[in-house]
Amino acid sequence: ARRKYVVGNWKMNGLTAALGEAQAIFDAAKAHPAVDVALCPPFTLIGPMLAAAPGAAVGGQDCHSAASGAYTGSVAAAMLADIGATLVIVGHSERREGFAESDADVKAKAEAALAAGLSVILCVGEPREVRESGGAIDYVLAQVAGSLPADFDASRLAIAYEPIWAIGTGLVPTADDVAAMHGAIRAKLGDLADSDAAGTMRLLYGGSVNAENAAELLGAGDVDGALVGGASLTAGKFVPIIVAAS
Ligand code: 13P
Repeated sequence: ARRKYVVGNWKMNGLTAALGEAQAIFDAAKAHPAVDVALCPPFTLIGPMLAAAPGAAVGGQDCHSAASGAYTGSVAAAMLADIGATLVIVGHSERREGFAESDADVKAKAEAALAAGLSVILCVGEPREVRESGGAIDYVLAQVAGSLPADFDASRLAIAYEPIWAIGTGLVPTADDVAAMHGAIRAKLGDLADSDAAGTMRLLYGGSVNAENAAELLGAGDVDGALVGGASLTAGKFVPIIVAAS
């Protein structure tokens, strides 16, 4: 059976004063050993967060696809692994939209991260117009096909379905719509990889997950966890989501 996975994406939030929240989150998570809990703070806080919570699952929100070189401002996957990070998010819609990352870019990043020994959370999700026109499943399956690494260990690759219109808006799809999307993604993974990989890979839902809606969203078919933005910044908001997953 797939273990539940609850991941916080702090986005561009968090100064060292926020490390106490991370400590409280990882402490509380110990009471829920059936749930894998991870936090992805800004690059600057990865090392300090690991120092504050030794052994915790802490990761990046992006990485470069190259191993090193003249890429001012970027961070390589091996650099994340080198400081003790164990995972990285790639293909978040805020990177795809704000930094013009293509499916091919996301695929290259995921491949680099897996090669560096990291676990990967690969994000996909449709914009509002696509949802409204009825094309969401086709759109997301094309993203999956275009950004899935050529070769991967399914235990280290998760896909996060984050409809763009649900991110930071308080809007969420119905549990039925989430189940339909996740079922379609899992079936597509069976075609693109194999049925073992499709059965092993965890599919996370992301977009306005909070303490009130977590149980319903996490209970939808083929949902193995959540990728949480705003509600992951404090223990008070994030721990109830961990509890809902357990
Ligand atoms: P919110 O939970 O703030 O809607 O953000 C979701 C998200 O983008 C997580 O990666």
